[in-house]
Amino acid sequence: MIKIAENAGFCFGVKRACGMIERTADSGKKVYCLGEPIHNRIYNAMLEKKGVTILPDDGSVLPRDGVLFIRTHGIPKQTLERIKAICPEYVDATCPFVLRIHDIVSKESAKGSYAVLLGDADHPEVRGIVSCATAGCSVFSTAKEAAEFVKATFDDENAFFAAVQTTFSKTEWKLFENILKKLYTNPKIFDTICNVTSVRQEEADRLTKDCDAVIVVGGLKSSNTKKLFDIARANCKNAVMTEDAAGLEPYFNNLKNSNKIIIIAGASTPGDVIQEVYKQMADLLNDELSFAEMLDQSFKTLNTGERVVGVISAVSPAEIKVDLGTKHTGILPYDEIVNEGNIDLEKEYHVGDPIEVMCLKFSDVEGTVMLSKKRLDEDKYLAAVSDAAESGEILHGAVKEVVKGGVIVSVNGVRIFVPASQCGPEGMDIETLKNQKVPVRVFEYNAQRKRARGSIRSAKRSERKQRLDDFYASLTEGQKITGTIRSITSYGVFVNLGDADGMVHVSDLFWGRPKNPADYFKVGDKIDVYVKSVDREKERISLGYKTEETNPWTIFNNNYKVGDDVEVTIVSIMPFGAFAEIMPGIDGLIHCSQMAEKFVQKPETMFKIGDKVVAKIIGIEDERNRISLSVKAIVAPEAYEADLKAAEERAARKAAAAATEE
Ligand code: SF4
Repeated sequence: MIKIAENAGFCFGVKRACGMIERTADSGKKVYCLGEPIHNRIYNAMLEKKGVTILPDDGSVLPRDGVLFIRTHGIPKQTLERIKAICPEYVDATCPFVLRIHDIVSKESAKGSYAVLLGDADHPEVRGIVSCATAGCSVFSTAKEAAEFVKATFDDENAFFAAVQTTFSKTEWKLFENILKKLYTNPKIFDTICNVTSVRQEEADRLTKDCDAVIVVGGLKSSNTKKLFDIARANCKNAVMTEDAAGLEPYFNNLKNSNKIIIIAGASTPGDVIQEVYKQMADLLNDELSFAEMLDQSFKTLNTGERVVGVISAVSPAEIKVDLGTKHTGILPYDEIVNEGNIDLEKEYHVGDPIEVMCLKFSDVEGTVMLSKKRLDEDKYLAAVSDAAESGEILHGAVKEVVKGGVIVSVNGVRIFVPASQCGPEGMDIETLKNQKVPVRVFEYNAQRKRARGSIRSAKRSERKQRLDDFYASLTEGQKITGTIRSITSYGVFVNLGDADGMVHVSDLFWGRPKNPADYFKVGDKIDVYVKSVDREKERISLGYKTEETNPWTIFNNNYKVGDDVEVTIVSIMPFGAFAEIMPGIDGLIHCSQMAEKFVQKPETMFKIGDKVVAKIIGIEDERNRISLSVKAIVAPEAYEADLKAAEERAARKAAAAATEE
């Protein structure tokens, strides 16, 4: 028995590009192609017969007449720029799935993110992708090498992103994805393997596990054909890769004793090449199933309910036309696109973008097939709600209706019932939730009835906790923040920092004597503070306000010295002297012996609080933050000098006596 895989032969990207090239060549125009249109010698030879000239793929030779085609793999940006400058006409037939990678890589690179690509660095598709990675890029052919590089290079998950060549091995890519998810909390991963490739690889894996021999038909340079061959070889000892029927001859002996032969083919293998291979094998095995039947099985037309990826060929406010690579034109009406809300189709969808749709109804007479995106999405959204019920993930939606006993939250059109007790605080008026956007945690999902129940209250609580966790984690000692004063007490001020409040103790507000915060601040004032310490468990954030730049001792030392005369204000009177403010936060002592020419027994007889006097700075003790002032030095300088002299003589006599004793 010989079986051809259902997904053998030209993929939609190749069909689309080859169709364009063939139609243009048939129209009589001079056609050039930058590199071989597909990795298939036989097909390329047929094109050359039609007059298509195949040029080197590096852009070293560019035509100055005719139409130049860019093949499905895409080209580097620099080559495209040269084409635009030199060629009179060109058609970009790059597969939309490849262009999607260009778009992702360009956008991420613009954010400064480094590209880590899995693929074959020498493949033309990868060379094109690399040209979009303006913030740097590394290409790896195995998950292990890529993971080692990422681990050694990036501490921060936002510094890089991962993407993959369209035709890369799905297994290897999944391996890399899993490693990244273990290494980082939320790595940026873009699964850019083309759906065609995934489907073919999965089918190849399934079919080749149970057979006697496998024939993989495709270009020897074709990346996706090689991947199919790797899969076949891993599952079946008797796996052969060939470009055409003639290439099978050396394997006849092995193949003719096989009971079950599977034929699989790469995305760039023409149908007639597969037909020849089939005929060759059928002759060898005397297989009776006609090729027409096999072809029917293989190149099946689309069926109602089938999911398919196409390319948008036209957009109007009422519908989108989709090229499915078949004889039917896909029509996607507005009502089959969105579940709820209004969207502007011409803004949201663009010609050339790939789109996944479901086939609804075929009309052979009109040559159309009605499509739906909404129904496809519905399945996805139901699956997302079901997953969220298991994982506890919080979803976001809007309250659509207030019903008996609760509200209905719509998440992408999936209705989730939230009982009144789970809508918010006890006694809340649930009517106020109508049309509000809300988070919801799904705690029950019935797949058969497609019904879900959830809680807004629990979701809000979790979101608040997460926000707080994130906020606390974001704070670092010394970090400067601007907050708003929420309340003032005698021992400090409470400052709202956004998601949480912090406190500045009065000792961290002012330098010098303790002051009443209410005399200096009011509720609602903006205040620049810095983080002193954070205690997540006790939910305490300790803040500081006063800084070294505002330290009055620093300012005093920069502006005053011993011997300076200063105007001071008496701020307190003690039995041994009076304290006087030199500048805000800095007081000095005028001792009773320094108040006047003679010793003053009762300082209150000399000064009262608030008096302004001129005094001389006669001593600064930095370590003890003490300053000595003298009014006597101003009002009776001779007496002050005599005191100084007497003190010096006393000190000298004392020193001499100490020396004699020794
Ligand atoms: S294999 Fe996929 S990416 Fe490559 S040309 Fe075909 S559809 Fe496009």
